Amino acid sequence: MDKHAISSIKSLLSTPKHIVIVPHKNPDGDAIGSTLALCHYLKLHNHHAVVIAPNDYPDFLKWMPGENAILKYDSQKQDCDQDIEKSDIIFTLDFNALGRIGAMENVITASEAKKIMIDHHQQPDDYADFMYSDVTMSSTCEMVFNFIEMLGDVDKIDKAIASCLYTGIMTDTGSFRFSSTSSNTHKIIGKLIETGISNSEIHNNIHDSNSYERMQLLGCALSNLKVIPEYQTAYITLTQEELNTFNFKKGDTEGFVNYALSVKGVIFAAIFIESHQDKIIKISLRSKGDFSVNDVARTYFEGGGHTNAAGGKSDLSLKETIEKFIGILPHYQKDLKTQ
Ligand code: 5GP
Ligand code: MN
Repeated sequence: MDKHAISSIKSLLSTPKHIVIVPHKNPDGDAIGSTLALCHYLKLHNHHAVVIAPNDYPDFLKWMPGENAILKYDSQKQDCDQDIEKSDIIFTLDFNALGRIGAMENVITASEAKKIMIDHHQQPDDYADFMYSDVTMSSTCEMVFNFIEMLGDVDKIDKAIASCLYTGIMTDTGSFRFSSTSSNTHKIIGKLIETGISNSEIHNNIHDSNSYERMQLLGCALSNLKVIPEYQTAYITLTQEELNTFNFKKGDTEGFVNYALSVKGVIFAAIFIESHQDKIIKISLRSKGDFSVNDVARTYFEGGGHTNAAGGKSDLSLKETIEKFIGILPHYQKDLKTQ
């Protein structure tokens, strides 16, 4: 973000404003962490700030400071519309196109509030008045830290802000292991820990809060794992019936795709999850190295994301989606085929 944009935002924020902060639909740790952190920060400056999520998020995020004040558009539309109507500024965090906020798209597009995007996804749309977009960043939470720093307020980062930012950086970097984790990411994490937050407690809250049924569903997913060694590819499927058997709850399948990617020699992994409610197959893609799953998601599955982590959907049946997926692999033989 250039100096000019920062000074414009500074003057915009110099008097109390009505501010709405929006994460993407099906928000993850980075989306909830970054929006809550920014909300806490803005409240320190006496703004009226509220996070409005398009829909609900997993239980393992429901300990985060300020989480219980998040409004959900799908179940609290009237309250949300009132806040959006009153807003002077709308921050959109952790997504690159308004299509990513589902049913909120029209009301946000129509709003005349100043829009500020903070995001690290590839190929962002040009809808915001101010855009802080950087695909090299590990997470939107890392960018919110930088944003607060650019506004000259790092010393205002308290435990509430720090634990939200820590959560998003941790979840989006796979606990600091993905290649997007830079030395700067670690420096920021150091500063967050210095505020006095308990980092090990955050790891426990996120990773050690599994239900027995989720572990059984993981067992089912792993037994459905298929490996295609000649294309260094592995994939997992879950049918709606399997999800029902293990009493699936939002977030239960988070991270499952990484088990496919963890098979030795695999550089391209996918999970296909049937959703009768949404009438789609939800797809998560992961890769190692230079192979771009953002490209695969955009080209074939109406989605997008990052080079090594992307998502999309299919309107075909699960069986047809898998056939399509296997049929695509030869298009990428230069990148995927062994020898
Ligand atoms: P996940 O597979 O964990 O749901 O998402 C991986 C990455 O891809 C995230 O950065 C997420 O925002 C992005 N992503 C997931 N699903 C979609 C989608 O349907 N469309 C787009 N454009 N991005 C997606
Ligand atoms: Mn993110």
